[in-house]
Amino acid sequence: MPLIEASLGIAIGFLTFLIIVGYDVFPFILLLAFGLAFYFIVVQKGTVAIKSRGNCQSSTTVTFQDIGGQNIAKKELIEALDFIITSEKTKSLGIRPLKGILLTGPPGTGKTMLAKAAAAYTDAVFIATAGSEFIEMYAGIGAQRVRSIFKKARDLAKKKDKPRAIIFIDEIEVVGGKRGSHTSHLEYDQTLNQLLVEMDGIETDKDVNILVVAATNRVDMLDSALLRPGRFDRVVKVDLPDKEGRLQILRIHTANKPLDNDVDLEAVAQETFGLSGAHLENITNEAAIYALRDKGEKITQKHFIEAIEKVMLGEKLDKKPALKELERVTVHESGHAIMSEVLRPGSVAHVTITPRGGALGYMRQKPENDMYLYTKSYLLNQIKIAVAGSVAEEIFFGERSTGAVNDFNEAIKLAKQIVLSGLSDLGIVDMNKEDDSVSQEVKKIVHCQVNEARTILLSKRPLLEALIEQLKLNEKVTGKQLQDLVHKFSKCA
Ligand code: ATP
Repeated sequence: MPLIEASLGIAIGFLTFLIIVGYDVFPFILLLAFGLAFYFIVVQKGTVAIKSRGNCQSSTTVTFQDIGGQNIAKKELIEALDFIITSEKTKSLGIRPLKGILLTGPPGTGKTMLAKAAAAYTDAVFIATAGSEFIEMYAGIGAQRVRSIFKKARDLAKKKDKPRAIIFIDEIEVVGGKRGSHTSHLEYDQTLNQLLVEMDGIETDKDVNILVVAATNRVDMLDSALLRPGRFDRVVKVDLPDKEGRLQILRIHTANKPLDNDVDLEAVAQETFGLSGAHLENITNEAAIYALRDKGEKITQKHFIEAIEKVMLGEKLDKKPALKELERVTVHESGHAIMSEVLRPGSVAHVTITPRGGALGYMRQKPENDMYLYTKSYLLNQIKIAVAGSVAEEIFFGERSTGAVNDFNEAIKLAKQIVLSGLSDLGIVDMNKEDDSVSQEVKKIVHCQVNEARTILLSKRPLLEALIEQLKLNEKVTGKQLQDLVHKFSKCA
């Protein structure tokens, strides 16, 4: 700043001299104004931004106990952190210091929480930032921000008298993408280079040990220089939780909520396959909001079911389709539900004709167990369930409607999975070969399942009609009610 003030003084003095000797100083004033504007907008804004960026916390309240599931990730992370805590011992064995840990996994699985818990575990100050916060259109600003974050981490740790600092960089792929892959190469490359330089400069014998914890869900995009030994040499996978993990997360987020005796968190965990910790936290929160709307003292299982549907499908809509359309929706959803129940008894969680999110009605299946591998017969049955809605429309109204477009997309996706896994009549296929044999096979599979679905639904027509009537009457039918109906009809047969 003193340099700027001195330059400004010299410039004003020079201008005064020019005015006295009778020069036209307008171009000089314009130039000075531009210079000042550039200084304040770019340099000052960059510095102010750096000062305000980086969410600093001298200590975080999140601990590993607050993180549900993720047992393997927690174990790997704690093991790595123990190296840092016992740095004297590791140094005596000649083990090189750990500089970076990369957490990879889908959004909302707890990567930020793990980084915060790591800070608490190692008694470190915590600074959080995101890759996107480094990038500006002006070359050099990103690199300056990287330097500033590292300096800030050291200063804060010294101020708080802490031996360590953790810098958490979320969305590292923004700043750590493969060099040369961005349109504005220079800025991105300079920023990444600066990050690499700072990481190389981390030394354990300095007063403050710095550990960089980064998170991404696009590890494939990262520059290999970031992943080489000596930088992010620990990669910890943070996956979507399994059923046990979901149950733990639900327990953590309901610990401060009054639950009714009928609440079955295990059933909630069972029905929420594929959801992340963030989704599950949202479900517990929404369930509490539903209880509040009902003016209830406690959260019931009904509130949880509503919350699951809201998180998975969207908020209930007020729009009411015309009577004719409503009838079509009823038939369509009944088709899906009967097919699902016939092929996999007990698989329907709920069928309703209340519009929600983008759907006029929906049938929600409950997964039996968490599944990661699918057999051909399972996939074929799922295709039948997907197309059964439009097949039911065809049976009752003589023609299908556009309401089945998503169902057919799903059916095609499943059929493609069969073909590309080598489970179709084509045997093993070369995915890089460009011919239409794959799309022909996909078409054949879907067509065949449409025919089979029609045969099944026609054979179950009385049951289908009974479900349609019940849905018209009550707007929704639970899995249990559907099972009772199926049972009643199987006795009649
Ligand atoms: P992103 O990749 O989108 O940045 P993330 O993986 O960093 O997400 P977090 O920010 O750690 O996810 O989690 C978001 C919220 O979700 C947390 O504040 C917490 O409420 C909840 N959550 C996520 N995972 C878990 C978990 N394993 N245990 C408990 N709560 C969790």
